[in-house]
Amino acid sequence: MTDIKRLGCCTLCDEPVFEVIAAHTEGPYDGHPRELGPAMEKRTMLSFNLKSGRRIVLTFCSECADGLGRDKFDEIWQKCIASNQYEIDATAIKLTPKQTQAHEQGMAQMRADSIERMTNAKR
Ligand SMILES: [Zn+2]
Repeated sequence: MTDIKRLGCCTLCDEPVFEVIAAHTEGPYDGHPRELGPAMEKRTMLSFNLKSGRRIVLTFCSECADGLGRDKFDEIWQKCIASNQYEIDATAIKLTPKQTQAHEQGMAQMRADSIERMTNAKR
């Protein structure tokens, strides 16, 4: 498991679950898929309840989804938080003070949140 999520890959093991047409060859996302084709058979979408009451849907491979238990939730959520921060840092978006404040509030909310029980698991 890497520190940040990879486009079109399992959130836990980073195996591609979409056909990868092209990958980044430079920059902060070097080696990450850039362009995706159709989803593979093993792609599994799981939805999680956040402490705040929101729901998020994350992508996994069927192997990881099958054995996924509560013990992995913290790890998964940390990866989501790190990915969010990385995206802002890596893209070097120039934010206005108001946007910066909104981003900081958003990140604070993410850190205060956590993923809880899974709801319906659908492909
Ligand atoms: Zn996996």
